[in-house]
Amino acid sequence: MNEQQRKEQAQIKQVDAADRKSGQEKPLSEKTSADFAKYFETTYEPPNLNKARKRGRDKVNVHYDFAIPEDMERIGEGKKFLIRTYGCQMNEHDTEVMAGILTEMGYESTSDTNEADIILLNTCAIRENAENKVFGEIGHLKPLKLEKPDLILGVCGCMSQEESVVNRILKKHQHVDLIFGTHNIHRLPHLVKEAMFGKEKIVEVWSKEGDVIENLPKARKGKIKAWVNIMYGCDKFCTYCIVPMTRGKERSRRPEDIVQEVRHLAAQGYQEVTLLGQNVNAYGKDFDDITYGLGDLMNDIHKIDIPRVRFTTSHPRDFDDRLIEVLAKGGNLLDHIHLPVQSGSSEILKKMNRKYTREEYLELVRKIREAMPNATLTTDIIVGFPNETEEQFEETMTLVEEVGFEAAYTFIYSPREGTPAARKKDDVPEEVKKKRLYRLNELVNKQSAESMKTYQYQKVKVLVEGESKKDPDVLAGYTEKNKLVNFKGPKSAIGSIVEVEITEAKTWSLNGVMVENTVEVN
Ligand code: SAM
Ligand code: SF4
Repeated sequence: MNEQQRKEQAQIKQVDAADRKSGQEKPLSEKTSADFAKYFETTYEPPNLNKARKRGRDKVNVHYDFAIPEDMERIGEGKKFLIRTYGCQMNEHDTEVMAGILTEMGYESTSDTNEADIILLNTCAIRENAENKVFGEIGHLKPLKLEKPDLILGVCGCMSQEESVVNRILKKHQHVDLIFGTHNIHRLPHLVKEAMFGKEKIVEVWSKEGDVIENLPKARKGKIKAWVNIMYGCDKFCTYCIVPMTRGKERSRRPEDIVQEVRHLAAQGYQEVTLLGQNVNAYGKDFDDITYGLGDLMNDIHKIDIPRVRFTTSHPRDFDDRLIEVLAKGGNLLDHIHLPVQSGSSEILKKMNRKYTREEYLELVRKIREAMPNATLTTDIIVGFPNETEEQFEETMTLVEEVGFEAAYTFIYSPREGTPAARKKDDVPEEVKKKRLYRLNELVNKQSAESMKTYQYQKVKVLVEGESKKDPDVLAGYTEKNKLVNFKGPKSAIGSIVEVEITEAKTWSLNGVMVENTVEVN
């Protein structure tokens, strides 16, 4: 989308009450998607998965001109906002951006729904149960909205990019005031203004691509670890996945903007950054003026004085030798690599459109281990992809053992409307899928427990994040390999990297004691 289109789309036309009446020949409950599309025409363009799938070759524009409009700068004074976040780190970080924008508009954050003047649900569309949770929450908030009609209730994030979801909200959840998509976050001040002063529901979702908007404010959660987006969108189109449609095409931030952001975070005292993208290994592929990939970016970030640098999520297909070579330099580049495999069967991987085979994945693991012998690998796995056979599932089990994953996010396949896999007939009963998931989880737990045991009586470096949720007298933090450690130590250690001796290894965490002379690691 170019700047001209962006400006044009910025003009939300409201439907006034008279227009609305003339469009309501049918009762709301009988309206179909087509009826709502008519309604959309006068307000905005409806989200459209087909359109989202069609990638333009338009140049990605980077904008540095974000500003809160003057008349909105103090509109939130004396008011509060609450953003509830569902899903992945990308959503967590989008929430930080929205919180930054609202803070610049004068709003304060609250965790109490009763106190809030704006409630935003930043949603996830990846699996059906994620969506169900959001619809449950929309329902729970209805009495509050009826009691406080001035409350602005908004739904944003990936679910808002789905036409069926928007239709369902418009049809059944009339108390929602505002729906906006993942490409429309920078429009938040305007959308809030429309919701505040307009009479009509505000819906603004752009189906295609999106640009890169650079100078958005961020209210980061905490002062120790920070997320840094390096790219947006995904062009991989795995057949089960909704993300390429909800997040638009792959577009990378300019290296200088990322390096500057990381430097700034280092100067503020942050100890760890995680570089974010749906497929970070595709970083830079969309640049037409420079040849610069994730390996080059990591090499530049390696030189910045920040103790820990992570990245997520990697796609095995684009994980190149240059990146391995740079990661092997170590230093602040941590050798914990999250490398989603999804399945151990080449046939299933083909059906998933993952573009690598079991053998190619294992070869990549071999290369990583050769360059970084102590590297820890974790993964994502989907069980019960349509028509997955028992043998194919067994191949996943043997791959998990062969690689020796120390942790895995495991999921039962969830059909997502608009994706190719969702159109497939599936002969695997849900009970069978659940049993497979159970067996896989048993194996992953066993491997995790075994890896934890190797830390017994060892000293590890822990970035101390705060008090343990279970016991305020215990501190908690993560090792370089992302293992959770609980230990007794002084509160003054929070925010720094300290040495802890491990006294007890559990399945998913370690217990220990802080070593007297703590170390700052750079
Ligand atoms: N981009 C990353 C990648 O390629 O691995 C992952 C992004 S996705 C937000 C996180 C994980 O959700 C995926 O790795 C996959 O295991 C899981 N996932 C995505 N779509 C799914 C679906 N339809 N059903 C079940 N799990 C799904
Ligand atoms: Fe989804 Fe595949 Fe893209 Fe990951 S790489 S976000 S699983 S389409």
